[in-house]
Amino acid sequence: MSIYISGIGVSKGIAIGEAHVIAREQLDTAKITLPASELKAEIKRFKTALTQASKQLHDIKEKIAKNTASDIVVFIDTHLLMLEDPAFNDGTVSNIKEYSCNAEWALQMQGERLVQVFDEMEDPYLRTRKDDVLHVVKRIQSCLAGKDQSSDNQSYKGKIIIADDLTPADTIVMQHQKIAGFVTEYGGPLSHTAILARNLGIPAIVGLHHARQLIQRGETLVIDGMAGFIINSPDNKSLKYYRSVKRTETAKRNLLNDLSGKPAITLDKKQITLHGNIDRPADIRTIKKYDDTGVGLYRTEMLFIELNQWPDQRTHFTTYKRAVKAMDGKPLTIRTMDLGADKEIQDTIDHGPMAHNPAMGLRAIRRCLKEPQEFMPQLLAILRVSAFGPVRIMIPMLTNVEELDQVLVLIEEAKQTLKKMQIGFDKAIPVGAMIEVPAAALAVDAFAKKLDFLSIGTNDLIQYTLALDRIDDEVNYLYDPLHPAVLKLIQMIIEGGKKANIPVSMCGEMASDTLYTRLLLGMGLEYFSVPANALLEIKHIIVNSTLKNLQLETQKILQTYDSNEIKTRVQKLVNLL
Ligand code: PEP
Ligand code: MG
Repeated sequence: MSIYISGIGVSKGIAIGEAHVIAREQLDTAKITLPASELKAEIKRFKTALTQASKQLHDIKEKIAKNTASDIVVFIDTHLLMLEDPAFNDGTVSNIKEYSCNAEWALQMQGERLVQVFDEMEDPYLRTRKDDVLHVVKRIQSCLAGKDQSSDNQSYKGKIIIADDLTPADTIVMQHQKIAGFVTEYGGPLSHTAILARNLGIPAIVGLHHARQLIQRGETLVIDGMAGFIINSPDNKSLKYYRSVKRTETAKRNLLNDLSGKPAITLDKKQITLHGNIDRPADIRTIKKYDDTGVGLYRTEMLFIELNQWPDQRTHFTTYKRAVKAMDGKPLTIRTMDLGADKEIQDTIDHGPMAHNPAMGLRAIRRCLKEPQEFMPQLLAILRVSAFGPVRIMIPMLTNVEELDQVLVLIEEAKQTLKKMQIGFDKAIPVGAMIEVPAAALAVDAFAKKLDFLSIGTNDLIQYTLALDRIDDEVNYLYDPLHPAVLKLIQMIIEGGKKANIPVSMCGEMASDTLYTRLLLGMGLEYFSVPANALLEIKHIIVNSTLKNLQLETQKILQTYDSNEIKTRVQKLVNLL
């Protein structure tokens, strides 16, 4: 009998295959007291396990294709750095000596200590780090037990993996072995593994509690990574249906490739700007793989996170210059740093106790304005690289116009400094802002008057409008880009831009979901900025849409507060020929 089970769909696509349930054995970490004469050998055994774990990770890194997005390599590097961290190795060695115990127990204790430190910080970003600690401990424990996590002899080809949790490294190895998809019991849509699954294009479902009890090894499964459900032992009719959905998906992907390099123009000849989102200069290669286009959002905080501190002007400059060069004349929108909430670095952590409500705390531009001397190197570097190609500055998280005025003064100061030093920059560099705080959306006219462009950050706009923590999977059910309040705010921002005669883009996740493309076009959005792998899908909708056919239905959507009616009408737009 077929059974439907649902979890959180984090990486779209249909997968059909045999279930391979990974029953992770509990490694024996009981304490064994050792005589003093054996401690030296035990430390050596631990060090050998560390070297082995490091070699496994390096092997995985080597297996990754050269054109793999840089974020994927970063996951492996994070684990490698942890292996080298004194908190891990020196701490464990001290435990062996202090407690005269075996390496397994000493490491377990050290891992628990580190996890506790992260737990007490109660910061969502560090919670993800806690998972990394557990994954690294598990890898070293396996090495101590003489097991090699990375060279599992099992063939995963075509299988759907069911596990309690997967590390990013597990995911890479399994993708290499051509798994069809995976399901985990834990994790949320913003976990490293979920991000990785999306980047690698593996259909995936997370947060499916008790998956390993509900599914038997060898059973046939269908998983829908978008809707987030599994069909266990599907009947022939369902199998036939999902096979045809899968064939359609593949045919669509091939068709989409033909759109690369073509303009995003609607059937009634309206030119739409379609740009990509990046985290690092290396991601420009991924954008170019899909389409030769500009960047509407460069999240520079990743540079801070990688360095774990505020970069100096030279580091900012060399990094952004690499990006400008890679853009090869296409526009690059550099967003000033947006640290805080789920994106944190040691420097901030060292600053004092974590805010109780970090998403509403000293985040992004608030932090920069509190420490303008720290912010200035980034502004100077962005201005300097504007001499090498079309660059725009974008400010995140503005709440009031006074903040904007302060930023504009700082930009002017930076320009004067460069002028005095006779260093070149684009004197007319466009300055824009993310509109992602509901207050800024409601007062958009005041911002638009002083800016060259606006960009709608729906991830935060939805978080703050609906009072839901964007990374807490417990309240994920409230996430609704079609909430009438959210739609009204988006409409206000688009109209605010039009009134001030400045472009308005959307760079939050809503812009990359094909369900909303026609609605947004109908609302008058003319500029989308999306992750690389969504570029062609969105373009496909744009080039198959006639704006004037969307407007009437869009008006009806904007006039109602009835959620069901909104959803039905949005679907009607999607189905329009
Ligand atoms: C947003 O909030 O929609 C956005 C694009 O910025 P980030 O996701 O980096 O907060
Ligand atoms: Mg944001």
